[in-house]
Amino acid sequence: MKKHAIIPIFIPHKGCPNDCVFCNQRKITARTDDVTAEDARSIIDTWLTTLGDAGTVEAAFYGGSFTGLTINEQSEFLAVTKEYKDKGLIDKVHLSTRPDYIDRDILDNLKAFSVDTIELGVQSFDDVVLKASNRGHTSADVYRAVKLIREYGFEFGIQLMIGLPGDSLESCIMSAEETVKLAPSLARLYPTIVLDDTKLYDMYVSGEYVPLTRREAVMRTKEMYKILDDAGITIMRVGLKSTDIIGEGGAINGGTYHPAFRQLVEGEIAKDRIEPLIAEAALAAQNMERRKNPDGSDKPPEISIWSNTKWYSNMIGHKACNKLYFCERFAGNRLHFRINDELEDGKFMVTIE
Ligand code: SF4
Repeated sequence: MKKHAIIPIFIPHKGCPNDCVFCNQRKITARTDDVTAEDARSIIDTWLTTLGDAGTVEAAFYGGSFTGLTINEQSEFLAVTKEYKDKGLIDKVHLSTRPDYIDRDILDNLKAFSVDTIELGVQSFDDVVLKASNRGHTSADVYRAVKLIREYGFEFGIQLMIGLPGDSLESCIMSAEETVKLAPSLARLYPTIVLDDTKLYDMYVSGEYVPLTRREAVMRTKEMYKILDDAGITIMRVGLKSTDIIGEGGAINGGTYHPAFRQLVEGEIAKDRIEPLIAEAALAAQNMERRKNPDGSDKPPEISIWSNTKWYSNMIGHKACNKLYFCERFAGNRLHFRINDELEDGKFMVTIE
């Protein structure tokens, strides 16, 4: 598969006058300085010297709400990326913004500067959740923005959050299903993290907001992941990276941050998919003729569970939790965990011999 490198250009809180309860953009990006177009140029130059033959190279504006900048500011940044794209040094330009900061004037400008992908911070399709999180837009803004974005022919992505105030498993599932209906090419799933110096932190301290437990966050994210994945939507990210938040001590409160959150979610998906396969194999093994060990004792058949290399650690589970679970649940069977790279990501096979 052709490689795809992303050059991230963070524009912390720049362009965003909003005050979402969970947001401390300066802390999320661990950067406080305003980034200028010239900074963007030197960020791209630095990355280009290290990328080598990276396949597709994409410059991505992350952080605040890009299209909330004035048109002049947007144009200054985009003039830099267009110059690099026109020279063939980068292939794609990507930015993230809010659904209510999309209109025809903005999209005309993005088109003129050869932007490829617009990622919308949707967070939830449940208006109760959006209001309780002080997002300042409704789900209607999302449908309107996506309709326009599609009309202009941009690729687009949708970011969703799990565990916002007023959120439930049902509203998470509804948000994933609505996302599928809009058919973005990519999605990101972020469990809510309570950051210092946010309204959410005050709500947490006063008891008005109770963060999800890690288990709840994983199980809700898992359901959303399955819906998006089954629809063929690329899930670019699950959970924040440590480098997104570490950098200013004390940024993490509550229990929903985990450095391997994606593995926790994919490990649960693997467990759900593998368990019935082993159960069926264990039943078949019971009916097989038993071979004997040299000492005459019973030698149960070997049950092998297979995944590709990429999903092997998900099959085993974080800190081998799935392996331990299966060995206990199917005690008396000889289980082996093996690799078969002909299997697709997230697909498993069980054999008996
Ligand atoms: S719109 Fe984005 S950057 Fe602005 S306050 Fe909300 S989360 Fe933060």
